[in-house]
Amino acid sequence: MQTRRCQQCQSQLQGRVDKKFCSDQCRFLYNNQKKRSAEVTISNVNQVLRRNRTILKSFNPIGKTTIPKLY
Ligand SMILES: [Zn+2]
Repeated sequence: MQTRRCQQCQSQLQGRVDKKFCSDQCRFLYNNQKKRSAEVTISNVNQVLRRNRTILKSFNPIGKTTIPKLY
């Protein structure tokens, strides 16, 4: 049988077959790190969107414009 290990600290697991973490502390740490990485991704996307809006606003200072049809 394959040895099961904690997803956070890699210590050997005992008990329930579907157990993923050795303790509540490891479970909290793992979930907080996962949540933080998702928040970093969202933050990076928001930063790009903010920059895009600033660039678009600089080309359109009065807030409304028309663009000629190209084709
Ligand atoms: Zn652990």
